[in-house]
Amino acid sequence: MNSDELFSESQILIPGGVNSPVRAFGNVGGRPFFTKRAQGSRLYSCDGSEYIDFVCSWGPAIFGHNHPRIRKAVERALENGTSFGTPCPAELEMARLINKLVPCAEMVRMTNSGTEATMSAIRLARGYTGRDRIVKFAGCYHGHVDSLLVKAGSGAMTFGNPDSAGVPKSLAELTTVLPFNDFGALEKCFSEIGEEIAAVIMEPYPANMGLLLPEKGFLKKVRELCSACGAVLIFDEVITGFRLAAGGAQELTGIKPDLCALGKIIGGGLPVGAFCGRREIMENVSPLGKVYQAGTLSGNPLAMAAGVESLKMIIEENPYAELERKAEILVSAITLAAKEKGIPICVPRANSLFSVFFREGPVRNAEDAIGASSQVYKKYFASALAGGVYIAPSPFEICFVSMAHSNGDLDKACEVLTESIRKL
Ligand SMILES: *Cc1c(COP(=O)(O)O)cnc(C)c1O
Repeated sequence: MNSDELFSESQILIPGGVNSPVRAFGNVGGRPFFTKRAQGSRLYSCDGSEYIDFVCSWGPAIFGHNHPRIRKAVERALENGTSFGTPCPAELEMARLINKLVPCAEMVRMTNSGTEATMSAIRLARGYTGRDRIVKFAGCYHGHVDSLLVKAGSGAMTFGNPDSAGVPKSLAELTTVLPFNDFGALEKCFSEIGEEIAAVIMEPYPANMGLLLPEKGFLKKVRELCSACGAVLIFDEVITGFRLAAGGAQELTGIKPDLCALGKIIGGGLPVGAFCGRREIMENVSPLGKVYQAGTLSGNPLAMAAGVESLKMIIEENPYAELERKAEILVSAITLAAKEKGIPICVPRANSLFSVFFREGPVRNAEDAIGASSQVYKKYFASALAGGVYIAPSPFEICFVSMAHSNGDLDKACEVLTESIRKL
């Protein structure tokens, strides 16, 4: 079956034909391609097309798809069985690596997804502080957790419906939403309800409404206010963890949260999440403490094998300078093409993450991001795809560069993306 046939039948059996909304290509006005194989920098579709992939499974494929070392690690683990229902040594190895790499991670609990990680971190913060209120930032996405699906960016934003149906109003009322990079709103919030806040949860570099860069001093300000009021600071580093640096944004900025949610890269392409943080707080997680959290497949040996191998490769290769060099090649080409064509553009980049806003910069918050042209993005996406380059299928998602992108891939991608902008 080709992609069109597969999608038609999928739409009958799976809501929207997909198991995660952004995959439907709804915001770029298309129908998705189905992938039958991924290798290195490439996706191979069920239609016989080949794409240079800058979505990278939404982040995990930092070494490219189906990397031989990760595949072999999973194969070795598979020989011993797929799930034990008891602790296994690979879980300890994973905890050691996270403890070593992530500055705040004195203790770690594994989950099966980033959503479970943020959900559990929120419950833990509430259990630890005995408070109910949560503060988040507009456009930051933290998975599909009820309390956090309030102005949640990305998938939610793409479909023009930031608040999900089915989230009780009484729950949403406990979530205060602030604009990112707004020092005044932050201070006002803390002066009014500071003592009631259980946690502030944030993507330190928001990467789910395009990419936003924290302004100088903003993360530090959040840290100071949380400490002063006894609120738990949670960094959601599901994307930025092991991506901006081995220790994520907290290593890059030197700002240490109390808790941190991880996902994507730590699974090496298998379903994994984790939350970690200060011992004093983490000791409240069951069975040690009173905050319940569990998972039949948490710490699964196959997932641990893939994740552990990825983290070992990160330690051995320290890929960040090389990733940054590669991403900058694309960002420069895109920016130059738009300037030559006279199209307003803003292309924020943080190490190997970047996004393209078709508007004048700077883009400081969700409101600015929404002001970028979706119509122009839609055309840009379509001609890039036609040229064999797969970029984020939404103006509110970001692009990822991997170690598998060769100089040849980057040359070809620059050519296609430049041509796509020329044709706008
Ligand atoms: C992807 C993502 C999540 C959710 O992770 P899942 O594994 O999809 O549940 C949470 N937070 C951020 C910042 C993400 O990008």
